[in-house]
Amino acid sequence: MHEVGIMERTLEIAIDRARERGASQIHALKMRVGVLSGVVPDALSFAFDVAAQGTIAENARFEIESVPARCLCDRCGQEFEPVDIIFECPNCHQISANVASGKELELTSMEVA
Ligand SMILES: [Zn+2]
Repeated sequence: MHEVGIMERTLEIAIDRARERGASQIHALKMRVGVLSGVVPDALSFAFDVAAQGTIAENARFEIESVPARCLCDRCGQEFEPVDIIFECPNCHQISANVASGKELELTSMEVA
């Protein structure tokens, strides 16, 4: 489960930033996770519980905002949500690897005290 490693690194950064602001506790953390990021939200939530133990983020509320996949067709410019691992444009059936969103994996907000 690589989510634990991802969460450990994310928490490290979050805790560093919180300390820079003179905070002694993190109350809430929010992440954006794209459906193509390779990260399973449930596993990430579980990883948070594990990785936050014994840190200033231990009692923080952890939220995940899921970002759907969007593709942009190279041929006709149609934006579409891929339904399969093959990103085929529903308009002209061109196979497109032009992913506009869905690969996000980022910390978007943090509340500290
Ligand atoms: Zn197209």
